Amino acid sequence: GVLADLRLPIEADANLEIITRQSDEALDVLRHDCAHVLAEAAKELWPAIQVTIGPSIEDGFFYDFSKEEPFTPDDLEKLEKRMSEIVARDEAIERQVWDRQQAIDYFKSIGEHYKAEIIEDLPADEPISVYQQGEFIDLCRGPHLASTAQLGDAFKLMKVAGAYWRGDSRNEMLQRIYGTCWRNKKELKAYLHRLEEAEKRDHRRLGKEMDLFHFQEEAAGMPFWHPKGWNLYRTLERYMQGRLDDGGYKEVKTPQLVDRTLWEKSGHWEKFREHMYTTESEERIFALKPMNCPGHVQIYRQRLKSYRDLPLRLAEFGSCHRYEPSGALHGLMRVRAFTQDDAHIFCTEDQITSESQIFCDLLLSIYKDLGFEEVHVKFADRPEVRAGEDAVWDQAEDALMTALKATGLSFTMNPGEGAFYGPKLEFVLRDAIGREWQCGTLQVDFVLPERLDASYVGEDNARHRPVMLHRAILGSFERFIGVLIEHYAGRLPLWLSPVQIVIATITNEADAYAESVAAAMRAAGLRVEMDLRNEKIGYKVREHSLAKVPVIAAIGAREAEEGSLALRRLGDKGQEDVALADAIASLSKEGSLPGSGPGS
Ligand code: ZN
Repeated sequence: GVLADLRLPIEADANLEIITRQSDEALDVLRHDCAHVLAEAAKELWPAIQVTIGPSIEDGFFYDFSKEEPFTPDDLEKLEKRMSEIVARDEAIERQVWDRQQAIDYFKSIGEHYKAEIIEDLPADEPISVYQQGEFIDLCRGPHLASTAQLGDAFKLMKVAGAYWRGDSRNEMLQRIYGTCWRNKKELKAYLHRLEEAEKRDHRRLGKEMDLFHFQEEAAGMPFWHPKGWNLYRTLERYMQGRLDDGGYKEVKTPQLVDRTLWEKSGHWEKFREHMYTTESEERIFALKPMNCPGHVQIYRQRLKSYRDLPLRLAEFGSCHRYEPSGALHGLMRVRAFTQDDAHIFCTEDQITSESQIFCDLLLSIYKDLGFEEVHVKFADRPEVRAGEDAVWDQAEDALMTALKATGLSFTMNPGEGAFYGPKLEFVLRDAIGREWQCGTLQVDFVLPERLDASYVGEDNARHRPVMLHRAILGSFERFIGVLIEHYAGRLPLWLSPVQIVIATITNEADAYAESVAAAMRAAGLRVEMDLRNEKIGYKVREHSLAKVPVIAAIGAREAEEGSLALRRLGDKGQEDVALADAIASLSKEGSLPGSGPGS
C-alpha cells in the first residue's frame, strides 16, 4: 500500500496534498527523501560525520559529507543496507518550524557546524523548517514523503567524488555520495541498463578501439585525428559539401587570426572575450576566431550588393577556437578547437520565412541520411535585454514560427532564451538510446549587419540592411562525429566507415586473388584493406569486428577458383557467398554518399 499515492505536507501547518507516484514531482520528492535516508544511515554508522547538503538532481541525488576517512566501496554497501533498514522501520517524516537561534544552537550542540553555518546565512525572513525521521533531524525546505517506507526499494548508491564546501576550492574538501532513485525496481533497472549502454557506446573508448583519434595533455580539448578518423571526418565533409552545393550555398574561407579591432566592432570582444585566444604580433593584438560571422560580413561587403543578389548563402567549414575550462572538456563532445558547418544567409526581411523553410528541409534531409529520424525543435524568443524594435522582433518571430510550423516538427517554446540580436531555433536529435543532442541552429540576426555596416540597394534604389541568418546543421564536425559514434555504437553505416571492407584470406593460396579483388573494389570507389597474415580466419574476423569494420570478405581456395566472396556483415554470425561482380555492384551502391552529394 505504501507505494500507491504519496502524501506531501506542503505547508508549515502540514496540510497534506496527495500527488500520484507517477508524477515528475513525486520523483523529485523520492530522490530528495532518499538523500535524507542516506544522511540518516551515515549518521548511524559514523556518528562523528557531519552532514551538509543533499539535493535531488537529474536521475538521482547526492549528499555531501564531512568525514575524516574516505568512503570505501564497502562503506557504500553498508550504507545501502542501513538505508533499506530505515525504509523498513517506516519512520514518520515530520516537518517542524523552529526559531532561528534555537536551530543554530541545536545543530552546533550536535556538532553539525556546516548546518549551523547554512542557517546563519539564510535570509532573515526565511522560516527555518526541519524534517525529523526517527532520531535524525535535517534542515530542509521540503516537501517530503509522510514516512520512510514510502521511499520503496528502487535506489542505489553510485559513486563517491570530492566536492568543495559551497563549491569553492578555498574551502574544505567534502565527500559527495551520488545515488540514483526511481519509483520502482523496473525503472531502476531500465536506468542502470541505459547507463551500461551509454558506457559501451562511449565515443572516447570506441575512438580508441577503432583507432580514430586521441587527445593529449599538450593540446587539451583539440583532437589528433588518426588516418581512419580523418577519413570519417572527410567523408562527412564531402557529403556536407555536396548537400550545400546543391542547396545553393557558396563556400568561402576566412582567416584564423583577426585583429581585435574587428572583434570590437562585431561586439565579440566585449561579450565573448573570456572564450577567445589571443596573440600579439607587430604590436597588434589578434584573436583566433571563435566564430565565422564577422569574416563572412567582410566578404559580403566587398562589392555593392543589390536586392537581386539576395538571398546570398555563404558557407564555411570554419575552424574555430574557444577557451573552455579544462574540467569541462569531454572527448569530442566538448572541445576547444572545432570546425563548424557554418553558413550565413544574407537576405531581405521578406525572405526570412522562405529561407528558414528551405533550411529546415535541408537539415531534416541531412539528419535522415545520417540516421536520425527523430528531431525536436526549441523555439527561443525575445529575451528581456535585446537589440532592435519590437515590431522587427514580431516580424522575425512570426517568420520563424511560420517556417517551423511548415516542417510539422514537434517543438517547445524556450521563452526569453533568444540571442540579444534575434530569435532562434535549436534542433535536437534523439539517438538510438533515447538521449538528446542539440546540434543544428537557425538564428535571425538584425544587429551584426548594422554593426559591421552591410547593406544592399533595394528596388527603390535606397540602401537597406540585409538580415543575417546564422545556421548550422551538424553544429561542429567534431561533436557530431562523437554523436554518430555513440548513436551507432561504432557500427557506422557502410558509406561513413573509414575501412568499408577487409579482405581476409583463409590460406596463402588465395593471396593473388585477394590482390585482384582489392584492386577491383578500389576501382569501384570502395575503401578496402587486405589481411593476408598467416592467422586463423576466426582470429582475423574477431580483430576486424572489434575495429567495427562493417564487411569482411573471407576468401580461400574455393572462392579464388569460383571468383566469389564469402561476405560477413559486422555482428552477423553467418556469411553469404556472392559472385565478385555482384558484391562490388551492391557494396559500391551502399558505400557511396547518400542523397545528391558527389560520388552518388
Ligand atoms: Zn554566425
